Amino acid sequence: VGNVRELAGKIKIDGIVTADEPMREHTSFRIGGPADLYAAPRTVRDLTRLLSALRDDGVPLFILGGGTNLLVSDRGIRGAVVDTRFLREMRRDGSLITAGAGAEVSAVSALAADGGLSGMEFAYFLPGSLGGALWMNARCYERSVSDILESAQCLEEDLSVNSIAIRAEEWGYKLSPFQGTRRVVLSAGFRLTPGDPREVRAKMETHRRDREAKGHFLFPCAGSVFKNNRAFGAPTGKLLDSLGLKGRRIGGAQVAPFHGNIFINVGGATAADMKALIELAEKETQEKLGFSLEREVILAGEW
Ligand SMILES: Cc1cc2nc3c(=O)[nH]c(=O)nc-3n(C[C@H](O)[C@H](O)[C@H](O)COP(=O)(O)OP(=O)(O)OC[C@H]3O[C@@H](n4cnc5c(N)ncnc54)[C@H](O)[C@@H]3O)c2cc1C
Repeated sequence: VGNVRELAGKIKIDGIVTADEPMREHTSFRIGGPADLYAAPRTVRDLTRLLSALRDDGVPLFILGGGTNLLVSDRGIRGAVVDTRFLREMRRDGSLITAGAGAEVSAVSALAADGGLSGMEFAYFLPGSLGGALWMNARCYERSVSDILESAQCLEEDLSVNSIAIRAEEWGYKLSPFQGTRRVVLSAGFRLTPGDPREVRAKMETHRRDREAKGHFLFPCAGSVFKNNRAFGAPTGKLLDSLGLKGRRIGGAQVAPFHGNIFINVGGATAADMKALIELAEKETQEKLGFSLEREVILAGEW
């Protein structure tokens, strides 16, 4: 650990480099202990140099997008957290929108609307970065990111830049070809269609209002904790509700009184509180309904 901290002083990149960075500052749950080393490079070149230095020193790597789907442990993350936040350049070229991994998905959606383009309305007010949305193949309002994905660029494990082919069979419900690999998403392109700007905006506003009405932004949270599964016969939130879990609390962690699948930090929640609540929901669903829930929220760090 000491070596990793020392490394923070030695790394010379354009961007931010700190040691013992509190991850609660970088997660929508507002939970998480320190990362030994935290770095946010400003260019792909600096990102590549940084990853190369970390690899040479054998430092474990965690790539951070918006931190909106993460539960980071109270002990924090050993090794380095590399934040993509500055890699957020966006461009509109006819009906093609291209953006860097660190761009906010919602901002990309807004850029499309400004150009009178339709197809990305569903992602308005979807929290998080483009890279995270590709990694998870984020989905809402019956649309997945892969539905409109035209191209994606990534850093391969050997740190070469690669434009990957989009093969439909590698994408599915909350499934992408980035999961289980060490590839880093750099940018993506979306092919959209010309639409009526007023209709596009109206649809986006409907989604924003729907999220607000569902309480998404009332408390620190990470959206849905568990995936849905058709075999359950009902959305996971309804199942947890049927078990009387809404409002259940452990320490500062609570199953939202307004949504069974959103767990909230009502103030001062630890990662241990939140994890215990997740495990409680899993146990009760298994015992009383016979279903194995699949986590959507990603647990990161040292537990
Ligand atoms: C209020 C709220 C509502 C939400 N609603 C939805 C919803 O409707 N639908 C939905 O699908 N999700 C939803 N989410 C969850 C979350 O917004 C998505 O999963 C989002 O896509 C995560 O993006 P992120 O940038 O925050 O990723 P992070 O949480 O930072 O990271 C998630 C994973 O992606 C990896 N990753 C991130 N960037 C890169 C990169 N550039 N290259 C490689 N790997 C990367 C990380 O290592 C990590 O494993 C919601 C969350 C909140 C807080």
